[in-house]
Amino acid sequence: MAHKPRKRFGQNFLVDHQVINQIISTIAPKRDDNIIEIGPGKGALTFPLAEYLEHLSVIEIDRDLISILEAQNNQKISIYNSDALAFDFNQFSEKLRIVGNLPYNISSPLLFHLLNYKDNIIDMTFMLQKEVVERIVASPGSKSYGRLSVVMQAFFDAELMFIVPKDSFDPQPKIESAILYLKTKSIPLVQNLKPLENIVKLAFSQRRKTLKNCLKSKLNQSQTKIDLSQRAEMLTLENFVTLMNDYEKQNRN
Ligand code: SAM
Repeated sequence: MAHKPRKRFGQNFLVDHQVINQIISTIAPKRDDNIIEIGPGKGALTFPLAEYLEHLSVIEIDRDLISILEAQNNQKISIYNSDALAFDFNQFSEKLRIVGNLPYNISSPLLFHLLNYKDNIIDMTFMLQKEVVERIVASPGSKSYGRLSVVMQAFFDAELMFIVPKDSFDPQPKIESAILYLKTKSIPLVQNLKPLENIVKLAFSQRRKTLKNCLKSKLNQSQTKIDLSQRAEMLTLENFVTLMNDYEKQNRN
């Protein structure tokens, strides 16, 4: 069946078998794992991965691709024709391992959507734009360190596994990709996402300015042990938790 790749669904299909095998090695599937693949496309990763599993669930938005997947008549695979951004990942009873070569245009909102289900997720292996992976795994002091790094690392141990060249895809994307492995922390740095998101957003609102400037009247130096003459990019995850708690104390309604 011919399928014209749709830009609006971020369709760049994997055609490099070596990369597919490397992704499967990163996932290290076990037969009874409850794996959910987001955006299976024509099944480049789906069918080789299913070989290792008793069962695999996939979520695909594009109806035309659903027909291509269904035509294989693979009894191990359950196909959901849904938007992953609106998908209820709590509908599965067992803990999940989530994988996917994600559509780049929705990668950040999708990661934030998945954060809502973190207690039900063992780990996630994703192909993403290399630059986004670098931001997620970045350490304090680096230019990639920002909101996404702090929020994701508060809940997951994050690792850039390997770079995937453009010519591994058809059509070729304009940017390089990388494989990201996220393992849910057994003890997250914070319980709730919202207060952390709030402080991180404020702190990074003007990257080049000091924390004192970004936090303005909402928190002054006498109200926190964190040195507010620094920029947000110098703060460790633990520093952000301290800052969050101090900020919450001052700004409770
Ligand atoms: N996994 C395939 C591969 O590696 O060849 C396809 C990867 S392609 C980069 C992204 C896939 O995600 C496409 O099949 C696209 O239709 C699908 N997709 C895009 N937006 C989606 C959404 N909101 N929910 C579910 N799938 C989506």
